[in-house]
This record gives sequence, structure tokens and C-alpha cells, in this order.
Amino acid sequence: MDTKETKSDKKKVVAVVGGGLVGALNACFFAKRGFEVHVFESREDIRTAKVVKGRSINLALSHRGRSALKHVGMEEKIVSQGIPMHARMIHTPDGKQSPIPYGKKGQYILSVDRANLNKQLLTEAETYANAKLNFDHKLQDWNAETGTMTFVRGDGSREHVLADLIVGCDGAFSAIRKQFMRRSRFNYSQTYIPHGYMELTMPPRDGDFAMKPGYLHIWPRNTFMMIALPNLDQTFTCTLFMPFDEFDKITTGDQVLDFFEQYFADAIPLIGVEELKSDFFRLPAQAMVSVKCSPYHIGDKCVLMGDAAHAVVPFYGQGMNAGFEDCIVFDEIMSQFNEDLSAVLPEYTRVRVPDDHAIADLAMYNYIEMRAHVNSKWFLFRKYVDNFLHLLMPRTIIPLYTMVTFTRTRYHQAVERWHWQDKVINRGLFLCGTGAVLGGSYLLFKNPPNIDKIDIEKLWNRLLSFRNF
Ligand SMILES: Cc1cc2nc3c(=O)[nH]c(=O)nc-3n(C[C@H](O)[C@H](O)[C@H](O)COP(=O)(O)OP(=O)(O)OC[C@H]3O[C@@H](n4cnc5c(N)ncnc54)[C@H](O)[C@@H]3O)c2cc1C
Repeated sequence: MDTKETKSDKKKVVAVVGGGLVGALNACFFAKRGFEVHVFESREDIRTAKVVKGRSINLALSHRGRSALKHVGMEEKIVSQGIPMHARMIHTPDGKQSPIPYGKKGQYILSVDRANLNKQLLTEAETYANAKLNFDHKLQDWNAETGTMTFVRGDGSREHVLADLIVGCDGAFSAIRKQFMRRSRFNYSQTYIPHGYMELTMPPRDGDFAMKPGYLHIWPRNTFMMIALPNLDQTFTCTLFMPFDEFDKITTGDQVLDFFEQYFADAIPLIGVEELKSDFFRLPAQAMVSVKCSPYHIGDKCVLMGDAAHAVVPFYGQGMNAGFEDCIVFDEIMSQFNEDLSAVLPEYTRVRVPDDHAIADLAMYNYIEMRAHVNSKWFLFRKYVDNFLHLLMPRTIIPLYTMVTFTRTRYHQAVERWHWQDKVINRGLFLCGTGAVLGGSYLLFKNPPNIDKIDIEKLWNRLLSFRNF
């Protein structure tokens, strides 16, 4: 295999614990800087494994994630293997479909295959002569004072490893984070939402996608929802998000069918009746957790990144993107402080915690927006107003979704700006409404209509038809 030579006069050892999406990418960032990098992953090598267990089959990659991939020269390769999604396609209960664009013309998010992305990042990390991947190494414990880690292998043997810097990228249930929990002044909170998720496959139809592929399809049904992202093999992966109580009520194939007939009737022929009845019981619904903590570092020895630092619910499509952005932010601070870890680590906590907490909160907010608000006419009206104002004043009014998904505006600043814009736009709409009522009243007063010519009953019925707006 070709390996990249780096300016490797530095011999500091960086141990990246977890070879998932963020760990594998981080290995490239540290290797590029010339550190001696060792990745320790508890699973076997997913590139050769027969069965790859894990979470969602595909994910939405957007600007922040792409920027991080660009830093290590991987953006083009990954983008070429993704499917652009320009809009959400809303499926109503009666089977109608209507698109809501994600942003301006030409702006899109990408549906990418999780396993393939992880494999490509691992392969990229291996191209550096100073990076080594160690699979079947499960971190059991580590010592914050000495930097010694203990790994357990599949055969039960143990290995002790020493590193100058430990980077915890071992996911939402991080073993690295356990040491943080034992320390004073470490803040931690975790919330399981009442919803679980289940993935169902929609096969191709007549050799093509069963639905339009350029969209993220959404069936919002208030207390629950289903989404579908396209895959390169022309399947869609549908993900049903629903409270566990509701999942528990469905115990037979016929009940699955009844439930789908009531809420997702248009999806039944596309998934297939028999497939739906069996797929539903293939795996139990999975839980979703939101984790916030602070600080992200211990001295100059250890730092948390990705889900280990901030697991977020998946409703903003930002978990991985935020984790990838962690890698760039850390890298930027490394340059700023000349790789002095005793200064870099506290600065990383200072800069990154408010942003990761903001995206965790936004993801919780979208948990409601995606399944309930997109059904509301006021919400849709406001989306159009926001997009229209953004067209008129692209630098002054920027929709929240655009800031989060298509820019690297710091998450917490995006939230602050969103609140300010919301206040200004709502006030503007109120003033326009008041102006229209006053103006209309004045005109009516000046030119009173001939009341005999107005069909009052018809007018009343027209007004009633607007009551849901
Ligand atoms: C249903 C769903 C849909 C999602 N959709 C999106 C999306 O569209 N867009 C998006 O940006 N994000 C999405 N996410 C979030 C995204 O999956 C995560 O944010 C991302 O996987 C985090 O990467 P990570 O590397 O930090 O953690 P993980 O992907 O969890 O990787 C952690 C790695 O550490 C290893 N590990 C764990 N413990 C140990 C140990 N003790 N020793 C050694 N290794 C260990 C694990 O085996 C794993 O390989 C979604 C999440 C879910 C659940």
C-alpha cells in the first residue's frame, strides 16, 4: 500500500480510541500533522468483517462534514459516492407529495452510506506511514495521570499502552468519558427521548428508485414520523421514529399492515406487503440518547470528540457533521497555539462546548419540528417568508437551517441570530397585518360597498375555510 510521508520529526504519540466516523477522520488529521497515531477500535476491521453491526445505514452529510473531509483531501471522493437531496418531500396522509427546498437553488445535503464512509476513512488513515490501526482492542480502563490505557482483546488477553495524548472518539457510551465522570467539576447530563427508531428497506422498482431520489422523504404524523433517504443501490432506507409504547402495541404482521394503511398507505406497495410484515420484526426499535458534558479535556492528556463529547438526537442530521467539525476546530486551535497541548486542550473546551450544546438543543427542537410543525400552515408560511427575505437580503436574513447546514457559522451564534431574526420578522409581519387591516378599514369607510350585493353567507364560509391557517 502507498503510504504518505509527513514532516514527522515530532514523536508525540496520539492514541485515538474508537475507529468510527470521527475517530477514523481524526486519525487523518493527527497523522497529517506528523504525530505517531494509534487508533484502537473494539470491533473487528469492518472492511473485512462479514457482518457490520451499527447504527443508521445512511446519513446526511452537509457543509461542516464536507469541510472537514476537504482538510484531509477526502471531500471529492465521498461526495461522488453520495446522492444529493435538494429538498424535503412531504408525504401527506392522503398520499400527496410536496417539496420544501433545503435552501437556495443548488444547495443540497448528501445521502451517504455510513459503512462505506467509515471504511474509506480507515483506508485513508492507513495511507499515512505514521498511523497504525488496531482492531479488536476494547478500552477497558485508563489512567488520567499517566496516560496508560488497558485494552482487552477478543481472546481475553490484555494490553497496556501509553500515549502522550488520548483522543476519546468512542461514541455515546464512551469508556474514556468514564474517567471524566470520576472527577470533580465535570458536568454531565443524558436524556433518552421516548421515541425509538426502526429501519425498513424500500427496494428498487423496475430497476429504478421507487420514489424520486433527489429528496429526503418525510411522512410527518405529529407524534411519530417516517423518513427515507436514497442509497446508491437504488433502494431507500426508511426510518420510522415512534414512541416505544406505540412500537410495543404492534406485535403481528397484520397489525403492522393496519398501522401502515392508516398512516403511511402510499409506502406499502413500495416497501411490499410481505417485506413490511417481516422487516418490522427483524430488529427491535433502537433508543436515542442526547448527551451533554463539560469540560471536554483533562489537563494536557485527554480530549473528547464526536458522540463521546456530545451525542445528539438525529433530527437535524448534524451528529456526524458536528463531530467532523470538532476535528477541524481542534486542528485550527493546534495551529493557533503551536501544538502546545497544555494550551490547546482548555481552549478547545472553551470554544467548542457552547457550540456542541447549541446543536444538541437544536436537534431536540427539530425532533418536534420535523414530525409536527411541517404540518402547520403557519410554519410553512414562515419558511417561505424567511426564504424570500433571504433572497432579498442574503446577508441580513439567513434561515436557521441554512446557517446550520450550509455554513460554518458557530452553532451557538446561529441560534442567537435565529432568535433575533425571528423577533424582527414576526414584528414586521404584525406591522404589515395591522397596516393592512387599518388601510382596508379606511378604504371601506371612505367607499362603503353596496351591502345588498354581498353574499354574506358565502363570505362567512370563505372565512371559516381559513381558520386553520
Ligand atoms: C438513526 C440515526 C441517524 C443519524 N443520522 C445522521 C445524519 O443524517 N447526519 C449526521 O451528521 N449524523 C447522524 N447521526 C449521528 C451519527 O451517527 C453520529 O453522530 C456519529 O456516528 C458519531 O460518530 P463517532 O465516531 O463519534 O461515534 P460512533 O460512530 O459511535 O463510533 C464510535 C466507535 O468507537 C468504538 N468504541 C466504542 N467503545 C469502545 C471502546 N471501549 N474501546 C474501543 N473502541 C470503542 C465503536 O465500536 C465505534 O466504532 C445519526 C444517528 C442515528 C442514531
